[in-house]
Amino acid sequence: MIIVLKHDAPAQSAERLLERIEAAGLQPLHMPGSERVVLGALGDERVLAELALDSDPDVESVKPILAPYKLVSRELHPHDTVVRIGSVAIGGTALAVIAGPCAVESAEQLRASAEAARDAGATILRAGAYKPRTSPYGFSGHGPEGLAILREVGDALGMPVVTEVMDTADVELIAEHADALQIGARNMQNFALLRAVGKTRKPVVLKRGLSAKIEEWLLAAEYLLSAGNSQVVLCERGIRTFETATRNTLDLNAVPYVKGKTHLPVIVDPSHGTGIRELVTPMALAATAAGADGLMIEVHNDPSAALSDGAQSLYPQQFTALMTALRPVAQVVGKSV
Ligand code: PEP
Ligand code: MN
Repeated sequence: MIIVLKHDAPAQSAERLLERIEAAGLQPLHMPGSERVVLGALGDERVLAELALDSDPDVESVKPILAPYKLVSRELHPHDTVVRIGSVAIGGTALAVIAGPCAVESAEQLRASAEAARDAGATILRAGAYKPRTSPYGFSGHGPEGLAILREVGDALGMPVVTEVMDTADVELIAEHADALQIGARNMQNFALLRAVGKTRKPVVLKRGLSAKIEEWLLAAEYLLSAGNSQVVLCERGIRTFETATRNTLDLNAVPYVKGKTHLPVIVDPSHGTGIRELVTPMALAATAAGADGLMIEVHNDPSAALSDGAQSLYPQQFTALMTALRPVAQVVGKSV
């Protein structure tokens, strides 16, 4: 419920109404605007109706939030949210480019890949220390040693780092080492993980689930916000369809659609979205043209030797060419790179 107070409502009316909302067992929200004071009340619809806030003398109007997700919705929060990962803003006028290898394989591999990414213009480094692999025999990352390498390389190159967390037991350690936590596609509906990450104050990159509808993805984000973490970046990374020519079908419809529904920034990962190196650059350009706030791209110093996702990882010179091609496209949609 969105509650707009009358312009001449006394200053203490907001506090009084917030107390009424809380006393009814609902979650009160205070959203002071430049013209009017706006309050929110989240919870059981029947309790909200019983409160009859619209008959309060200081209330001008009461409007239900129609979307099933509330805190994430533009109905409640009309203006774009800007999420900061280290010193890099995502959701403003600059297109944020996150790049790096799929996984931390060694200090040398990460450093060489990260240098290539940074020199070409990427501002955030990605690499997994805990990897979700389809086969239990696949390389599943170096865990804590991988985190230490990631932190060291990020610091040496002046790049904030983002890395995946798969288990609630690892949240604390990863939050100590990384500037942002990634929740992968396979864990988008791991509700215990969403709640645990929601309790941290680290920015989160929430990937869309392999078969998640947009509404389910936004409700997963709602878990994070309702646990207290509002620093959430949504990442479209392709979904399962009947098409098997590509690893996934990158759903670029989702970019303008989701941006219309939520104030959170939306980025696109064309590496996992296609699975094919040659398709990464065209889809990165298309994602930018569609209004994405950023990109996540896999870059490896030697893709042929990569321990995971080599086929979709760009060679350093391909990433440099991508960044060059990106600048005029970003400019057309009013963004800088
Ligand atoms: C990744 O970013 O390396 C990854 C595993 O992504 P996703 O969860 O989108 O498959
Ligand atoms: Mn990968």
